[in-house]
Order: sequence, then C-alpha cells, then structure tokens
Amino acid sequence: MNDAPVVTRIAPSPTGYMHIGTARTALFNWLYARGRGGKFLLRIEDTDRARSTPEATEAIYRGMRWLGLDWDGDAVSQFAQADRHAEVAHELLARGKAFKCFSTQEEIAEFREAARAAGKSTLFRSPWRDADPSTHPDAPYVIRIRAPLEGTTVIRDRVQGNVTIQNDQLDDMILLRSDGTPTYMLAVVVDDHDMGVTHVIRGDDHLNNAARQMLVFEGMGWDIPVWAHIPLIHGPDGKKLSKRHGALGVEEYQAMGFPAAAMRNYLARLGWSHGDDEFFTDEQAKEWFDLDGIGKSAARFDMQKLEHLSGQHIAVAGDDALVAEIVAYLAVAGLPALDERQIDGLKRAMFCLKDRAKNFPQLLEKGHFILSKRPFEPDEKAAKSLDDVSRGILAELTPQLQNASWNRDTLEGVVAQVAEANGTKLGKVAQPLRAALAGRTVSPSVFDMMLVIGREETLARLNDATA
Ligand code: GLU
Repeated sequence: MNDAPVVTRIAPSPTGYMHIGTARTALFNWLYARGRGGKFLLRIEDTDRARSTPEATEAIYRGMRWLGLDWDGDAVSQFAQADRHAEVAHELLARGKAFKCFSTQEEIAEFREAARAAGKSTLFRSPWRDADPSTHPDAPYVIRIRAPLEGTTVIRDRVQGNVTIQNDQLDDMILLRSDGTPTYMLAVVVDDHDMGVTHVIRGDDHLNNAARQMLVFEGMGWDIPVWAHIPLIHGPDGKKLSKRHGALGVEEYQAMGFPAAAMRNYLARLGWSHGDDEFFTDEQAKEWFDLDGIGKSAARFDMQKLEHLSGQHIAVAGDDALVAEIVAYLAVAGLPALDERQIDGLKRAMFCLKDRAKNFPQLLEKGHFILSKRPFEPDEKAAKSLDDVSRGILAELTPQLQNASWNRDTLEGVVAQVAEANGTKLGKVAQPLRAALAGRTVSPSVFDMMLVIGREETLARLNDATA
C-alpha cells in the first residue's frame, strides 16, 4: 500500500460557486499528488439533484481552471455511479455487514420519543437488525450498515493524530434509501475505492464522517485511505469564514484582479507551512508540500497577506503572461476589453508597471498613461500641479526635449538642467511633467513614461498641458 502511486481527489458538491475552502482543499490534494508523480482526480458530488445544476458544475470547472489545478482524466459524476453504489449496498447485505430495515418514519419517531422520555440515547436502533429474514415483510425497506455496538473506532489521521470514537455513538446509518437511491455516506466510500484514491485530504468537518465511512470500507474488505482532515479556514476574527468576512467564491478573487499564481501561493500557506517560506513558486510548493506541514489549528484569512504576495508574484511574472491574465481578469470583472493598441502598449510598458502593484486594478491604474489617448484630462490631484508656474517650466522643457537623444541619461540630464535653471528641485519639475504625461499623480517614473511613449507623443502631451 505504501508503495502504491498516490491518488488524491477533490470532491466538491456543486452549490453554484466554488468556495475558497474547496479551492484550498483542491490545491492541497493537487500539490500532494503532483509532487509525487501521482494522480489528482475530480469528482462532482452531484447526488443532490435539486442543487446540482450544469451551471453549478461549470463554476467548479472554471474555478479549477483559473487556479491551474488540472485534474487527470474526466471528472467523475457521483450521480452517474448510483447503480454501482446500490450494488455495493447489496453486497454488504449479502456479507451480513448490512441489514434490511422495514421501520417506518413513524416508528422511528416513536422510538426517539420513547428514548428521550426514558433519558436514553436517541440513536435509532432498528428492531430489524437481528431479525430472521424469513420474518421480513413484503414492504419497502432501507439498507442499513451493521455498526459495532461496543468498543471504539480509531481514525488514524495524518493531521489530527489518532481520533477515537466510541462505537456506541455510531448509528446503523442508511446506505440505500427505500427508493433505491444511495446515501452520500455510501457513495463517497464506493467512489473513493473505485477511483483508487489513496489519500483523502479534506476539511475537518468530515472527520466524524470518516468513522462511519470506515465501516463501509471494512465491510467490503477494502483498503482504508490515508486520512488528512484539515482545519477549516477562519476569518480574521477567528470565527469560521463566512460571507460577512468578505468574498467566499474563488471567482470573486479573480474578479478582484489577483493572479492565479499568487492565489495558489496564498492558499498553500493557509494552513500549511514550510519553515519561514512565504513567497514561493509552484515548483517549490510541489516539492515541499507534505502532510506533516499542515497545522492543527485553523488558519485565518488575511487579505493584506494575499495582497502582499500578489504584488510579489506580479513583479516576477513574465510580461506576456501578465497581459494574458489581465485580459482574462477584465472579462471576469465585466470591464471593457483592451484593444490591440492597448495590449501592445501594456506589453511595452509592463517593465515599469509591474513593480508595486498589488493587483491588476492597481497595475492598470498605473498604466493609464499608455492605455488612454491624448488629450489627457488630468484628474483633480494632477490638475493641481499644473499651475501657471509649472506650465511655464514645462514650456521651457519642450524645446529641450525636441533635440535631446531619447535615452534615460539624456532625459534625466535635460529635466535636471531645467529644474536648476529655475532654481528648483527635480521633483518640482517631475510633478507637473507627470500630470502632463499621465493626467495622474500615480504613474511610473516620468522617464519610464517618456521612453515608452516616445518623443513625438511626449511633446504632444506637453503641448496639450501648456496650451
Ligand atoms: N462533497 C463534500 C464537500 O463538498 C466533500 C466530501 C469529501 O471530500 O469526502 O464538502
């Protein structure tokens, strides 16, 4: 078993969007498999027919694709395996590991009522558990697992350690309903077995399920996978992450303009650590990721940390890749697409845009000087630095730039000279120059901008501002 190739999976229930916690669980499973030459599978847990729409499933695919979490083979539909689940329920019946229960809803309610009145456990104990099949009526029945009544069940969990469950807390859970449909608890185990899953890494809200699911594995004589139940994500206040903490859907983070690589880096650090490493590449994460590095306490979602990592990833990303991601971001955010001229400009300007931008909106704001067309309407702040004195200085600068060779050293020299001639500092010239070139107070350096847009366009913008 130890030498078997690793097979992990993510098994989301389609609920309309992809939860950030699901994304993190998917990432952990992906990293674990990819770092070990294993397989990473996707199963859509679409047994709840009311909620499981094609749109909800699409949202999961989109989230996975955006995050670059590629899965092996086709996604498995849990619903499509229903016959197989029923087959296993009957197999457990034949092995004596499960039994037919004919109790009606009313009888079960009565049982609970009586147990409550007597101060006993309300866990339902079916009178059919040990009934002789010859006494079975010709009536609808459910198939229940025959759970142990005494002793303990130990879940050997790679994150939580050994978790002991008292067996008298385990009920004879239903495997197959009277209409022949499988329960979730049965379906998960059968699918994990049939898909060859060796490691189940999932939220610790499923820890209790593990004890019950083990009964099915054992009943069928199947290998129990390695369990790793990871603490859920909490909000900054330490409470379980919820809508009031901010965005929950993965796509909302794409729409906020975070690059996928930053999201992967951030989510990997959310509950897992490798020494003091904060910023890392996918290759490093795949190499380093291990179940031992997963913490036992819940990680808190920290937007500032995400923004910080995002800035670092933007700074080191390739220019063309960034432009491609920005194009996708604009579409998801419902913003106007870039035209050819803008895409070309963005590529040429990227070297001076990608530093110190925490997300794509900030990067695009900085890129206003290349994305927009003259004449530039300066915003309020920029307009302030274009007073009469400043405009006079810019007017003096214009003829100097006409003949200067267009390289950084010369441009810096010319601007410094004009500043000196006016008895002022470089900054005093740079400010109105920035306003003239970008119409903004936040932009790349004036020299970077001049180099990107060229002489002719620089002079035209100066003329606009001084006219
Ligand atoms: N479908 C379950 C969920 O979305 C996951 C079940 C599992 O990973 O075993 O929470």
